[in-house]
Amino acid sequence: MSGMYIYAGGKRYKFRYVDPEDEFNNEAHGECDQPGPNREVRVSDKITGDLLLDTCIHEYTHLWFPWLDEDVVEEFATDMTRYLLKVIHAKKLAQPNAHQNCAQQADA
Ligand SMILES: [Zn+2]
Repeated sequence: MSGMYIYAGGKRYKFRYVDPEDEFNNEAHGECDQPGPNREVRVSDKITGDLLLDTCIHEYTHLWFPWLDEDVVEEFATDMTRYLLKVIHAKKLAQPNAHQNCAQQADA
């Protein structure tokens, strides 16, 4: 997949999904360049779901708060992921008719 641009704090960054074996020299699922011109975010194209969300929040946090230490970013992103998944899932459960349209389409 070719790159795209994302925006964080009013700045534009290049974002690419990459093959981690080609791009990362460790077990990382994502990385972003140090602050500077042409700063880029790269995320593994092999991950999905909760891990993908965690990784995207993680790299985005680096863009917004470049002074934070890695372990703080790690903990924040995982915490944020858990929070978002919980509250969004709870809202879906609280709306029993959320899939009403799906059922109607299936019956049609
Ligand atoms: Zn990091």
